[in-house]
Order: sequence, then structure tokens, then C-alpha cells
Amino acid sequence: VTEKLNALKANTHNTVNSTLDDLALDLATKVDAKIANGESIGLLEGIPFGIKDVYMLQGTTTTASSDLLKNYKSAYTATAIQKLLDAGAIPVVKENCDSFGHGSSSENTIFGSVKNAINPNLVGGGSSGGSAVNVAKDYTVFSIGGDTGGSVRQPAGYNHVYGLKPTYGRISRYGLMAYASSTDCVGPIAKSVEDIRIVLNVMSGKDIKDQTSYASAEINAENIKDTSEIKSVGYFKNFIDSDAIDPKIKSDFLSTIEKIKVKGIEVKELDFFQSDILVSTYYTLAMAETASNLSRLDGSNYGNRIEDKNLKESYAITRSENFSEETKRRIVGGNQVLSQGFSDEIYLKSLALRDAISENFEDDFKDVDIILSPVTPSTPPEIGNSLKDPHAMYLSDAYTVGFSLGQLPTLTVPQGTETGLQITAAKTNDELVLKFANFLK
Ligand code: GLN
Repeated sequence: VTEKLNALKANTHNTVNSTLDDLALDLATKVDAKIANGESIGLLEGIPFGIKDVYMLQGTTTTASSDLLKNYKSAYTATAIQKLLDAGAIPVVKENCDSFGHGSSSENTIFGSVKNAINPNLVGGGSSGGSAVNVAKDYTVFSIGGDTGGSVRQPAGYNHVYGLKPTYGRISRYGLMAYASSTDCVGPIAKSVEDIRIVLNVMSGKDIKDQTSYASAEINAENIKDTSEIKSVGYFKNFIDSDAIDPKIKSDFLSTIEKIKVKGIEVKELDFFQSDILVSTYYTLAMAETASNLSRLDGSNYGNRIEDKNLKESYAITRSENFSEETKRRIVGGNQVLSQGFSDEIYLKSLALRDAISENFEDDFKDVDIILSPVTPSTPPEIGNSLKDPHAMYLSDAYTVGFSLGQLPTLTVPQGTETGLQITAAKTNDELVLKFANFLK
């Protein structure tokens, strides 16, 4: 653990703070003592892991990579993190990310851009960029990211590691700072399917503190080696035929499809919504939800408060000075789509589109067991580009946001050299996603 802590400190650009040193060393000492006593230890005991800095861990700073919460100390611990602590895993670092999860490049942060693990001129991806880079560089064995519209899957793809967005509700969101509550998911990032399985099992389950959580059966290591039930796979033809897709991503994807056919699996082309519809539906709903969720951050209960003439002015200046440009853009956009005169035209239409997207998935899964897609149409941008062109950044989420709206389980696995492959199954069938990842190996 000391070795990991030192490596992380040498790499502060990618991580947020080192307030976990005492906690980590204390926990590690206890595991050492157990080993010295000849006691047996559990699978996760003593394993160093990282936490995207949007999870509560009592007594440690939880900044959401924002000025507003720069000095905020968590008052309690998130359920998912508590379960990992109970299993003996050791949190070594809170990880840099896009502020409040707002972004796809981990540049919307007060801690400096997260650099890609493979090519440091490129972004690490986002919003869970620090988490994916830490795993890719072996600073952590696994990290816990958060995925609202792709934030675990996309950085996992850009850094060639595994990242799972489980079915919505499989893991409790209690203690994960809310971005868009109807799609927020706790998601593990690791270097193998087996590590993802272990960490997923530990974190899953019904939690009285999150009424959208549900009870699920443990995923057995042996079961996911038996891939005989996989008969058919589908992919969205319009994603692959799009002008926006990078040619290398397209050819990597098509060669995966060929390999699958050779293994005797039927492959079907499916119809789906166009990227611009998916992106605008997602961003309308995500902005509306974040405008509402972040309204509590006015300096009265949490975070940095700036005093002004009166209460109203104090709220305004606290929010204006402490939120980033990107976060403000989303709050303004969200309040606009929720306001009278706009909500029927924009917000309610987006809710209807979301239902149509979910129905489309339900129909697809009557026909195929698995849907495959590249994680992104494009390769990781150079550092700085996404900040200059937020619209291009939103469009780069075209392949991840649909699965978020559908609340489906979906896993990024490394593929080719540019971005990952996304494996998706029907709701609650997270086991099949892991099976398929094993099948591809
Ligand atoms: N890039 C997407 C957004 O900015 C997804 C972010 C996320 O999943 N937290 O909303």
C-alpha cells in the first residue's frame, strides 16, 4: 500500500488528494497483522482501490473536482464503498474527474486535465478519467467510477481497460453525488472480467437507502465460463455506417463481428435511433435532472460560501464563482427545458423519446441475446479540444447514452487500438454481459 500511495503522489495530476493515507495505512496494517497471525484473508482484503471523487467516504474530502466542494468533508460513507470496506479492500485515493460528472474528457476539473494512459497528449476520457487511468497504469487494482451517460465505459475504452455500467439499480446510489438520478450508476473499472465480477458481486444488492435499488443473485465464476446459451448478436447498422465513425474504429468493430460469425453465432443488423436524437434526448434529461440536483449547492449547507449583500446575492455569487463553465451551461440549459413554455416542447418530448428508446431495446432483445457497439465513434481528442468545443464533446457520447437511457447493463472491453467494444444485454442480465466478454477472449 505504501508503494501504491507513493506512486499516486508522484502522479497527483491524475488524482485528487492524499487524505486517504492514514486510513489506507491503518487498514493495511490490520491486514498485515492478520496475515502475521496466520489468519486467512478474504479475496478483496488488502487490495488497493481508487474512488472517483463523487462518492462519500466519511471523514475524507469529496470535491466532485469542483471549487464549490473543494473543502467538503463527507459526513457519511456511500453504500457501495462501505461494502468494499467491509470486504477488506483498501481505498488509496479519490480520483480526478469531470466536475459533478459533467464531461467526457476529465478536463472540466479544478485539478488539471487527466492524461491518457497510452498517449499523454490525449485526454484520459471522462468523466471517470482518473479512475480509468489509475487502473490502466496499475496504480489501483480496481477503481469505482460513476456512469450516467458513459463515464465509466468511455474512459475504460480510451485507456484499454474493462469498465461496467451495471443495470440501473443493481448497485445502490446512496452516497454517490447525484448528477442525473434516473441514469446514475455505480460502475467498477478493472483489468479483467473476473475482477469486474468480484467487485460487482460485493457492491450489488437492495439498499433501504436507495429505493431504486434491487436484490440480485450473485454471479458465479463458473457460470460465466459456460457461454453455450449465446446464440445471436445484433449491432446497430446506422452506428457503423455513420459518416462520423473513425475508419479504424469501424474496421476493428467489423473484424470482431467476423470473429463472432466464425464461432457460429448468428449476427443481425438492427435499426436504431439516429445519434443526434440519442444525444439530444440524453442531454435534455441529464441537464434537467442536474439543474434540479445541484440546486441544493448554494453555500448554505455544503461547500464554499461567498457572502454578499443579502441571502439571494450570496447564493448567486457562491454559485457563479464556484461552478465551472460547463456545469453552469448545464444548469442554465436544464432550467430552460424545465420552464414554462419550453417543458412541453422539449422536456416532455424527451421523456417520450426515452420510452420509445427503451421499447426499441425490448424488441431487439426478443431477437438477439447481446447488442454490440463501439464505445465511441471517435478516438480520444487531444488535451484542450473538448473545452473549446463542447458540442463536439456531446456528440462523442453518441454510442453510450442510449444504453444509459434504457438502463441496461453494458460493459466496455478492450478492442483494437482506438476505443473499446461495448457489450450490452437486456435489463438485469448483467451475468450475460460478463459471459459474452469471456466468450470473446
Ligand atoms: N459525458 C456524459 C455527460 O457529460 C456522461 C457523463 C457521465 O456519465 N457522468 O453527461
